[in-house]
Amino acid sequence: MRFNSICTKELRSKQEVRSHILPIYPTSSFSFDTIEQGINIFKGEEAGHVYGRYGNPTIEAVADKIAQLEAYGLDNQAKAIMTSSGMSAISTLFMATLKAGDKVLTQGNLYGGTTELLTSILAPFGVETVMTNLKDLSKVEDLVAKDDTIKMLYFETPANPTMACVDMEALADIAKKYGRKSAVDNTFCTPYTQQPFKYGVDFIVHSTTKFLNGHGNSIAGVVVGTDVEFMEQKVWKVLKLVGTNCNPFDAWLTWNGMKTLGIRMDKHSANAMQVAQMLEANAAVERVNYNGLISHADHEIAKRQMRQFGAMLSFELKGGLQAGIDFMNRIRFCTLAPTLGDVDTIILHPASMSHVNIAREIRERNGITDGLIRISVGIEDVEDILADLEGAIEM
Ligand SMILES: *Cc1c(COP(=O)(O)O)cnc(C)c1O
Repeated sequence: MRFNSICTKELRSKQEVRSHILPIYPTSSFSFDTIEQGINIFKGEEAGHVYGRYGNPTIEAVADKIAQLEAYGLDNQAKAIMTSSGMSAISTLFMATLKAGDKVLTQGNLYGGTTELLTSILAPFGVETVMTNLKDLSKVEDLVAKDDTIKMLYFETPANPTMACVDMEALADIAKKYGRKSAVDNTFCTPYTQQPFKYGVDFIVHSTTKFLNGHGNSIAGVVVGTDVEFMEQKVWKVLKLVGTNCNPFDAWLTWNGMKTLGIRMDKHSANAMQVAQMLEANAAVERVNYNGLISHADHEIAKRQMRQFGAMLSFELKGGLQAGIDFMNRIRFCTLAPTLGDVDTIILHPASMSHVNIAREIRERNGITDGLIRISVGIEDVEDILADLEGAIEM
């Protein structure tokens, strides 16, 4: 045998081992024992893998786990497909459910990338976006009833930057009544904190980059749906042909992170509650937006839909833009970064960071005022987080 004949049939058969830890399969394709087996797998008559872009055992293990978490304790089935990022989960879902002439009904305060995807990428392909206040349910029903080209209701709850919530059950009911689809971005909550399928939502997307991974070391996303056939046919077809598949290593990192999801989310929520209460009592703080506070406008909706109130909050410094910049520069312990969902506390001043190139009146319309600070509260000792934040707020 030549030195470079890397793997014979006999050697391959020895590769079936019972690894305790999920293996990473960094392979672009999969081999067949016989031509007959290859034909059967290609035809879908025998289970098996063909090509890495179509599916991979590492990625599918993670997707199956997320589907189980989203459907945990519920009557419905769920099927999940992992993608290369949260944005690719959202674009894969839109491509699988919408065509030219269709409209998406959504809210103004979506994740920035999603708004831009809708308005600058999907719009030229003939998919129109209608933005409205999704809390105004009679307006929503009116819009849907009058316009049968609205095919999808898409929402986030809670949403940036004020943690505004929408009533998922009411929105899913309107979608069902008129034969439309509903989808929610559940990134801020994870299935541990909120299970949208319980309220009749058809599709869930996540940026697993955030809390599901939890350690800030991978970029990936997932689409989950209760219509298993639709997921296996339409959504998988888009993934396969647009090539939005996740890579095995990032899936594997997500899997590792998810092992501690429950204990992380419990600690995130407990810490965030204490941070919110400290901020609410601080004289330099105008307002705190945290779903767990009774003062939050959507506290009741959040309490109904969420098992706990999560890690995300924002607050308004009385001193405006300069107070926001000074606060950020006095931070010593927490991290200044434009992400969220990691084990460490992450702080963002949108006016000087993520939204610095957006005109003030446009960002203010979406609640991003000069003195607004967003925090993804981590799982450190809460005393360290509180001391850092209090020290950085000018009294
Ligand atoms: C980060 C994020 C996304 C995009 O996810 P990527 O993994 O960065 O592509 C979508 N929605 C929400 C709510 C997010 O926080």
